[in-house]
Amino acid sequence: MSNCIFCKIAAGEVPSQVVKKGDGMMAFKDLTPQAPTHVLVIPTTHVASLNDAKDASLLGKLLAFAREVALETGVATKGYRVVLNTNPDGGQTVFHLHLHVLGGRPMKWPPG
Ligand code: 5GP
Ligand code: ZN
Repeated sequence: MSNCIFCKIAAGEVPSQVVKKGDGMMAFKDLTPQAPTHVLVIPTTHVASLNDAKDASLLGKLLAFAREVALETGVATKGYRVVLNTNPDGGQTVFHLHLHVLGGRPMKWPPG
């Protein structure tokens, strides 16, 4: 997708603070962090949203990648939250599938 910001980040055309890359996945720091650790995990190929993700194995890989990011950024033991916003009511603003990995502080429940 030529006009997708996360496709551009995946291609290295837009700079980002890369946390981890490989196996068709990429993790990079969120531009506006909502927690001390706030990393976005994306598939490097364009998928607009969870509704468009027809490949269940890709979703499994994405979630496993997020778990590795949590381990490698040091938040796994104390705890962390994985968020997947879908479409406007779900709070999605970038229409390239992504997981938020949030940690480094206690999370509140319920989310807003
Ligand atoms: P959403 O609201 O779609 O679930 O999350 C989109 C996230 O992408 C937001 O947390 C926002 O801060 C982040 N974001 C938007 N544009 C950029 C960018 O160009 N670079 C990075 N690193 N993060 C971005
Ligand atoms: Zn994209």
